[in-house]
Amino acid sequence: MSKPIVSISGIRGIVGETLLPEEALRWSLAYGTMVNGGTVVLGRDTRPSGEMLRGAVLAGLLSTGCKVIDLGIVPTPTLQLAVQHWQANGAVAITASHNPVEWNALKFFEPSGMYLDAGGVKHLSAIYESGEFKRACWNEVGQIQFDTTAIDRHIERILTCVDVERIRKRKFRVVIDCVNGAACFISPRLLERLGCEVIPLFAEPTGIFQRDPEPIAENLSELCNKVRETNADVGFAHDADVDRLAIVADGGEALGEEMTLVIAVYHVLAHKEQGAVVTNLSTTMAVDEVAKQFGVKVYRTPVGDINVSKRLKEVNGAIGGEGNGGVIYPRIQYARDAIAALALVLEFMAMHDEPLSELVKKLPRYHMVKKRLTLGAIPAHKLLECIKQRYTAEEIIEEDGVKLQWDDHWVHVRPSGTEPILRVIAEAKTAEHADKLCDEVIADLQQLLK
Ligand code: MG
Repeated sequence: MSKPIVSISGIRGIVGETLLPEEALRWSLAYGTMVNGGTVVLGRDTRPSGEMLRGAVLAGLLSTGCKVIDLGIVPTPTLQLAVQHWQANGAVAITASHNPVEWNALKFFEPSGMYLDAGGVKHLSAIYESGEFKRACWNEVGQIQFDTTAIDRHIERILTCVDVERIRKRKFRVVIDCVNGAACFISPRLLERLGCEVIPLFAEPTGIFQRDPEPIAENLSELCNKVRETNADVGFAHDADVDRLAIVADGGEALGEEMTLVIAVYHVLAHKEQGAVVTNLSTTMAVDEVAKQFGVKVYRTPVGDINVSKRLKEVNGAIGGEGNGGVIYPRIQYARDAIAALALVLEFMAMHDEPLSELVKKLPRYHMVKKRLTLGAIPAHKLLECIKQRYTAEEIIEEDGVKLQWDDHWVHVRPSGTEPILRVIAEAKTAEHADKLCDEVIADLQQLLK
């Protein structure tokens, strides 16, 4: 039988094929054993398979003696905040994030609300493999407590971190694309509290995604049209579990998911607080340019929410995140929080009189090209070594694959954590240059693979 994919981003599979309830049960038994029958927060996105997996996860957690705080359908960042609120021993989210509807996943968290790191996943996997699970006897089986106010608390927390009156005065007209995901329960409500005229798009929490749930520019044509038709000030799009935010400017241009973090970093450094910025190695150089304007340091980590969150906490940075539209604002929490990001973008707009389409022209912008190459018999590390030898870059970074860095362009080659492929990402001042860089490296790799 095919198994789900186990990685730092959780246990993922296609429901009914590689992700079965018995697998979800076994992983939950392992997690319940790992937290020694403590308190565990549980939440899920709107996918139709969520309820079935919830049953399996509940059985696993309760039978190891865990007390389960069940939040129902909530964004992942809402669940992460709830872990702190309940001082829980951990959490499980049932969501495949930006993956298509046939996928689902279990994601596991630490008591801090952050994802399990590589060590945590290894520990959990060892318990799963051993099959030695904690078993509660009849009078020690866990209980469920329902929490229906996690979203309210999340909204209130965000409202304490932005200038609500300033945003309300502007009465922004906003199109919000919730992809029929967990955002339906939070983003339109937050926008109303911020005095916006809310125009919903895909805002029925059916879990049937009317577009690809990954909020990259090419998937947002309906949102772009709606922003144009309604003459809105801005359009926002999420993925299914609301840790990613993409922006469409007035006039209907999708800014691309890399720009979300650039705007948030600029806004926080210019108007809110000074401090270091943390992002991953594959995120746009525009972040470095903005940080330079304010004389603050940028730390780069391997790709992955947990890597960025941990470093951000260590260096006590002002803001961080990933180029996929995931913004981490420590005043709210050390997690990618697209609802917080949305409030920050509106606050940025409220600080200026010009429309967003004009404001972004003043921010640095690069072009990024992302391609992939299927691996053959040659192991990834050998290919990476060859790339390293072949190019003379100003800097070669080997923390996460190989990144060749020059003054105003770079190429990053990294093995995927979940598929037998190499990801090749290049960024430069023009789309042509980025494309050429990407193709050159891919052609070299293909030579090696022959
Ligand atoms: Mg997500």
